[in-house]
Amino acid sequence: MNIRIGMGFDVHELETGRDFFLGGIKLQDAPKGAVGHSDADVLIHALCDALLGAANLRDIGYHFANTDNRWKGMDSKFFLTEVIKLLADKGWRVGNVDCTIVLEKPKINPHIDAMKKVLAPLMHVEEDAVSIKATTNEKMGYVGREEGVCAYAVALIHK
Ligand code: MG
Repeated sequence: MNIRIGMGFDVHELETGRDFFLGGIKLQDAPKGAVGHSDADVLIHALCDALLGAANLRDIGYHFANTDNRWKGMDSKFFLTEVIKLLADKGWRVGNVDCTIVLEKPKINPHIDAMKKVLAPLMHVEEDAVSIKATTNEKMGYVGREEGVCAYAVALIHK
């Protein structure tokens, strides 16, 4: 079996009065939301980069430029679906993914099961193959000041 790994990172600014899309769901208890050209789902963007990286298919900005009006306000689940298609075209399937969200508020733990339920079928894997973790930044830096949110992801793919 041929296996590859990839890593991804993304960051978005947070702003009061915006919807917060994260891990394919809308957080109903968020004091701020992420700013971006698309729906600014930082977790899906990091995940897409991990998957694209594993397959050596460049990055999410290469395929879905943030200057392209087609992607304005786009649901990031579309990007993940397209990334999975790009991988499948080269014969790659997802093994497992592991992600970490870095955010001060709200608490992410209550939302993780819902995120896994949404993301697993998009990647054609069991929920058990989708790990999502969260940490605060201990009130330090731009995440600590609640100015931004970031996410890291690693992905294993195989064929
Ligand atoms: Mg992004």
